[in-house]
Formats: sequence, structure tokens, C-alpha cells
Amino acid sequence: MEAAQPTPSLSFIIPVLNEGETLNTLFVKITATVQEHGLGSFEIIFVDDGSTDNSWQAICELATAHPDVRGLRFRRNFGKAAALAAGFSEARGRIVFTLDADLQDDPEEIPHFLEKLDEGYDLVSGWKKDRQDPLEKRLPSKLFNAVACRAGGVQLHDMNCGFKAYRREVLPHLNLYGELHRYVPVLAHAEGFRVAEIPVRHHPREHGVSKYGWKRYIKGMLDLLTVLATTRFLDRPGHLFGGLGLISAAGGFLILFYISCMKLIAGMPIAGRPLFFLGILLMLLGSQLISMGVIGELVIRFQSHDHRGKVIERA
Ligand code: UDP
Ligand code: MG
Repeated sequence: MEAAQPTPSLSFIIPVLNEGETLNTLFVKITATVQEHGLGSFEIIFVDDGSTDNSWQAICELATAHPDVRGLRFRRNFGKAAALAAGFSEARGRIVFTLDADLQDDPEEIPHFLEKLDEGYDLVSGWKKDRQDPLEKRLPSKLFNAVACRAGGVQLHDMNCGFKAYRREVLPHLNLYGELHRYVPVLAHAEGFRVAEIPVRHHPREHGVSKYGWKRYIKGMLDLLTVLATTRFLDRPGHLFGGLGLISAAGGFLILFYISCMKLIAGMPIAGRPLFFLGILLMLLGSQLISMGVIGELVIRFQSHDHRGKVIERA
């Protein structure tokens, strides 16, 4: 049935967890912007991530009344990344937007994203330049961004903005699960896509409550390790583990060398010195890490490499 529908130009994917109060207004705002700017056909896909309020009812009413609206529903809360991934697999538009359901993102920015994509970018991410959230959220977010951008090799102010626009070619390359939605720009950049950022207007939350607190940044740092291991170091685990291992082993060696010299020159005893144990610990840790790197390299050696995923054109 659905296959017979014409392909829309734009898809909007909206993850929803208990946001029943805002969905109708959001629909009206998106529709108004698209029509006002003559942006062509579109579809809105609401993904209900296990809401316990009236969100699903609101989505069903919208989907019944408007053929451009569709809804997906999870049996329980699987998280924003899973909701976005489900939306991506349903989206048919040439350009795919994601935005939050709580009206903090302003649909009037949609044309600006399209202008930036037209400059030749594959992914445009919003930057909540004047962020309307409490300070205890803004400060850790700044720190998180700085670390994640540096480690991930992308230069953005606001990695984790929910408002983004993608060329559809990007989507099959993003394997979003857990809480990896925070690292979409790093994941896309690692696949060779061109990533840009535009400042967007941000509104305070007026309905419902935030689903995330400061704890997200602790989990986020753990996720960063996963992202680095599966992107930058995917082809060379030996460099990640080997690098750390060499630093540790070198530290241990220097300590043991120093206390050996002190024993020989000044006759100072070795046993019983805390430094002695630290030296041994660092040497052992270093050799452990280096051998993990070697095992990682062996695992990769026996995996078939899929080069087609990296090839984009043939002549
Ligand atoms: N969300 C979701 N599943 C979750 C948590 C959040 O679908 O497990 C949705 C939520 O409904 C909202 C968006 O993700 O549309 C962003 O969440 P929120 O506004 O709470 O984040 P904040 O703006 O506080 O960073
Ligand atoms: Mg929000």
C-alpha cells in the first residue's frame, strides 16, 4: 500500500517520550514552514519510544487526519538512538530531518538547514548558540562537546543537538543504538561525509519534563570510547592499545631503572618501596595492553573487509 505513495522530498523524524502536549503544535509548525517556503512534499514520522502518557493517541489522531503523518511505536522505552534508527529505516525523503518533540527546536530553521546542505554538505547539525536550558545542563554540555570534538576529529560547538538534516545516503552508514545518537557527527565524519553546523534558535521547555540530566555526560564519556574504538581505531586497534601500553610500560621501566640505579650507587634497598610496586604494576599493565592490541589486530586480520562501503564512485 505504502509503496504506491510518491516519494516525498523531505522526511521529519521525531522521537517522542511522553510529549503528548506538543505534538499537534509541532505538526502545525512544520507544515506551515514547509508550505510557506514551498519546500515540496514531505512526511512526518513520529516514533513513540514507549510513552506512558497520551502521546500515542495524539500520534494516531494526527496520522488518521493527515496522510503525510505516520507513527511508529516501541513496546517499551528503548532510548532516543533506537527511536531515530527506527525512523531512519522508514524514512523515504531525499533529505531527512530529525528534531525533538518538545518544541525546543524551531521548525522555522528548516530552510536554513537546506541552504547549508546545498553548499555541498552531507550532514548539517544545529548549534543551540543561545541555549535555553539551566546552567547545570549547559556547563557539562560544553565540556562534553570539547572532549568529544577533539577526540572525534570534528569541529562543532554542539554535537548533541537533536535538530539535524541528513542527505539520505548518510543514513545506512549510521549504526545507532544505546545512546550513540550523541555522536552522529563523529560517526558520519569517520565515514567520510562532510559535516557542517548552523546556529539555530532554541526555546525553553514549556511542556513536559527533560528526559536527561547531567548523568548523561558520564555515560556519554563511556560511549565516546566505544565510538573511538569503532571509528578512528577500527582498522588499527594495535595503535590504540599499543599506544597506551607503551606509555605505561615506559613509565614502569623508568621507575625500575631509577630504583636500580639508587640501589647500585647509594645502596638504597629496593624491596618494600612503594615505587617498586608501582614500577612493576605499570610494566605488567603495559604488556597486557600491548598484547590486547596484538589480539585486536589478529581479529581484524581474519575478518573480511568490506571495501564497497567506502567506495562512492567508479569511473
Ligand atoms: N526522547 C526519546 N527517548 C528517550 C529520551 C528522550 O524519544 O529515551 C526524546 C524526547 O521525547 C525529546 C527528545 O528525545 O523529543 C529530546 O529529549 P529531551 O528534550 O528530554 O532532552 P533535552 O532537550 O533535555 O536535552
Ligand atoms: Mg528538550
